[in-house]
Amino acid sequence: MSETILILGASGQIGGELTEKLRNIYGSNHVIASDIRNGNDALMNSGPFEIIDATDKDGILEVVQKYKVTQIYLLAAMLSATGEQFPQKAWDLNMSSLFNVLNLAKDGFIKYVFWPSSIAVFGPSSPKINVPQSTIMEPTTVYGISKLSGERWCAYYNKKYGIDVRSLRFPGLIGWQSSPGGGTTDYAVDIFYKAVAHQPFECFLAENTALPMMYMDDAIRAVIELMETDSKKIKVRSSYNLGALSFTPKTLYESLLPLFPNFEIKYTPDFRQEIAESWPESIDDSSARNDWDWQPQFDLKRMVDDMCYNLRNK
Ligand code: NAD
Repeated sequence: MSETILILGASGQIGGELTEKLRNIYGSNHVIASDIRNGNDALMNSGPFEIIDATDKDGILEVVQKYKVTQIYLLAAMLSATGEQFPQKAWDLNMSSLFNVLNLAKDGFIKYVFWPSSIAVFGPSSPKINVPQSTIMEPTTVYGISKLSGERWCAYYNKKYGIDVRSLRFPGLIGWQSSPGGGTTDYAVDIFYKAVAHQPFECFLAENTALPMMYMDDAIRAVIELMETDSKKIKVRSSYNLGALSFTPKTLYESLLPLFPNFEIKYTPDFRQEIAESWPESIDDSSARNDWDWQPQFDLKRMVDDMCYNLRNK
């Protein structure tokens, strides 16, 4: 039987690009986009779209049955920076949406689940450099707490009920197609918009704050490769460390100067600085490399060139 995928939270930063790629692979009518708000024109016009609240289990089930959905990709979440403003809402959304999807799999309505975790599962007591797959994890943000709890529930549902759930710990994601949704690494997208518009940039992180990052093309490819891997090869059922780049705001700024020699930056760290400082600087993703041959393709220069090229043409 062919697969039909439902994406919850498809109108966000990752959802738009992931939906487009999945529609190219599986066919437009086999990839149902959904969100609580409409997406951009490309998303809305390229295949089926449904308004679904990911906290409404019956609403999800209705659409699962309508389209004979076999896989759910759950992208709806409240991200790190917004989560600190609304802790209870972040916890409720991030956990109830995950339980809804895991329970639909447990009840036999769907076969596969993709759910992204984050580097936010690590905390100040985790190693900073090349943080291993398994280590001390004491996250200090509500977002990180919800992601770490979610990981443990994914592993539990896999072990206890045999649910085929797969997950990646995304670093900060950088793409040109849509705006980021309230995370601590959003500066690394915003800076490109200002550079291309020939405007000065005010950075909310300090200049030497190194964080793990990844170009969106690599992130989307990672999701698809993980989901297409033979189930027996997936050894990590909590969430895989996933690495690509690590840089500071200063390094990113300097990499833009050859293209925009007059570009100016000012550093005004705000509450997000503390969040960033609680996270690792770089990731050891050898489990992903060994289990399903993960390999990033974009280094800093290639990413900067691609971002600038696409934003100039946008
Ligand atoms: P985003 O904020 O851009 O998109 C999330 C989408 O979810 C939005 O379109 C929003 O309208 C939707 N949404 C919110 N509440 C909803 C609800 N109740 N029901 C249905 N939809 C709802 O986020 P993103 O950057 O696309 O992130 C997607 C996932 O990837 C999240 O789980 C996030 O934690 C994870 N992640 C993202 C990054 C990153 O850098 N973007 C890094 C690590 C992990």
